[in-house]
Amino acid sequence: MEIIEKINRNSFAIITGLIDRNIMKRLKEKKEKNDYVIVIGCGRLGASVADALSDGGRSVLIIDKDNDAFKKLSSSYGGLTLNGDATELHVLNEAGADKAAAVVIVTNNDNTNILIAQLIKDRYGADNVIARLYEPERAYAYEGLNISTVCPARLSANEINSLLQKGL
Ligand code: AMP
Repeated sequence: MEIIEKINRNSFAIITGLIDRNIMKRLKEKKEKNDYVIVIGCGRLGASVADALSDGGRSVLIIDKDNDAFKKLSSSYGGLTLNGDATELHVLNEAGADKAAAVVIVTNNDNTNILIAQLIKDRYGADNVIARLYEPERAYAYEGLNISTVCPARLSANEINSLLQKGL
């Protein structure tokens, strides 16, 4: 019971931090052709990734279809914001998707993330495309298509297992 309460209390912070670290690690692992990164979806995760990239000196632009979402960025965020629907080509063109070394796609919808990831790969040729997928089965399928995926359920399960092994 005590373990479950602790997991509940800390789960959101742990999971967001975990996904964030996982994305940052993958971006660092790849050799970038330049330092321009586009983040799509300014939810808590997208804002946190964009803040970290900006703090790390990267050129970053974050896109969201909801203008209010940008309020989640920290006051020190030094990158650009673009209000628009990232499934629309004119928005990706305006964002300079053809110049991006990496694109991180973290909207709240798996289908949207997959659609955008494929558009970015096929039309703009970015080779470092990372998409969040909530559905683990889809994440496995897309890894075969050279789209790098982050699956919160998988990361959370691994983290919870490791916390349980340590006895919290
Ligand atoms: P969250 O649910 O906190 O991960 O936030 C997801 C964010 O993605 C929200 O701020 C949405 O407005 C944003 N979003 C969802 N679909 C799109 C889209 N097609 N283009 C741009 N932003 C989107």
